[in-house]
Amino acid sequence: MREQCVIVGAGHAGSQAAASLRQEGYAGRIVLVSDEHDLPYHKPPLSKAFLKSPENPALVLRNADFYRDNEIEIVHGATVDEIDRPAMAVRLGDGTNLSYTHLVLATGSRPRVPALDGATLEGVVSLRTLSDAKRLNELLQGAADVVIVGGGFIGMELAHTLTVLGRKVTVLEAAPRVLARSVAPEVSRHVHARSLAAGIDIIAQGKVAAIGDDNGKLSHVRLEGGRVLPADLVILGVGAVPNIELAVTAGLAAENGVVVDDHMRTSDPAILAVGDCASFTHWQAGRQLRLESVQNATDQAKNAAKTIAGRPAPYRDVAWFWSDQGDMKLQTAGLAFDADHRIITGSPEANAFAVYHFRGAELVAVDSVNRPADHMIARKLLAAGISPSEADVLAGPQRLKELLSQTPAVLENS
Ligand code: FAD
Repeated sequence: MREQCVIVGAGHAGSQAAASLRQEGYAGRIVLVSDEHDLPYHKPPLSKAFLKSPENPALVLRNADFYRDNEIEIVHGATVDEIDRPAMAVRLGDGTNLSYTHLVLATGSRPRVPALDGATLEGVVSLRTLSDAKRLNELLQGAADVVIVGGGFIGMELAHTLTVLGRKVTVLEAAPRVLARSVAPEVSRHVHARSLAAGIDIIAQGKVAAIGDDNGKLSHVRLEGGRVLPADLVILGVGAVPNIELAVTAGLAAENGVVVDDHMRTSDPAILAVGDCASFTHWQAGRQLRLESVQNATDQAKNAAKTIAGRPAPYRDVAWFWSDQGDMKLQTAGLAFDADHRIITGSPEANAFAVYHFRGAELVAVDSVNRPADHMIARKLLAAGISPSEADVLAGPQRLKELLSQTPAVLENS
């Protein structure tokens, strides 16, 4: 049988896997199965630029010519319902069977829906896909008071976007601080203060008791403790759950994600998993985790393509992430698990600073606000395994560049 790679899911990871397979010289048939109807598109703008100009088309990752020229078949509006591992075939919703020699699961994740009274009312939404963003835009037209449940990246980005669009926005965050799972306390404090200054209300340790209606029409959110907030629109931004049901039913190992090795192989070597749905032992953090970022989706897809093309290389890319909130560009390089101290450089007052996280003497992550030079250098330092001293960090990006230039391997790659 001719080689045939079936990719399930055409988001950032699925589209990249198809493109990278061709770049790696894969000559077999490539079929990308997508349950969406649009060409694969960039997700980050959905909570940022898209709602400001919804009339503009979504930003596609690659245009239609790219898929045609590279002989990548996209089956739109189709769901893979089952994997038949003994037969090495998948079954689509319409009953069609597709054989594979390699299967890539790039099924992503979906918004978590909390078990709350009123969570299914019309006007209570989550944001994941382009059609979610279009729906949100429609609902916004009749909405003045917006309550966002969850002060994570998507919640805070939307809070800024909708405030600029003239809505009264309140963010409810169950934890003591916004972005608590992702950035240093100093960055959370900064974002909190600047968001208040932008006109956003934030209620930290604000737990929702129920979402309420008036004669079936969404009208308010009630907090534990009894406080009631008026709401014409409620956006749930309380995290995502990986789409792993297909893998679990097929008997693949799963643990908060489809478990993969360093080469993106699942417990069945003919099946790989990449992006938001994959759980793996991260080389830097030394623990099993799942990352939800464009970087991880893209780099794992490239890695999987190498594996399929017969040139496996261990996944060693540095984790990085960004978020745009009002006049703040937040960027993080590395993973701060188990960090035991931090060094701050720059000026929060000037809305430009960076937080360097260390575990002992080892640099493990850098969060920055409007300091792109620190972010770029951090990625290179982490990739090269170079840990600067406190004096180096405080001396600024120029000194860190000198450190990098003293490392021959980095010079070759930069
Ligand atoms: P997805 O992009 O979700 O793609 C998975 C696709 O698979 C989906 O189309 C899904 O419908 C489809 N699918 C699932 N099951 C099946 C099936 N059985 N059959 C067929 N198709 C199926 N990351 C950043 O790094 N920076 C940001 O600023 C940022 N902003 C974001 C803003 C928003 C609003 C959102 C939603 C995410 C943002 N992210 C950001 C996260 C980033 O977009 C994700 O990590 C990335 O999209 C993951 O790519 P993926 O291909 O794994 O999953």
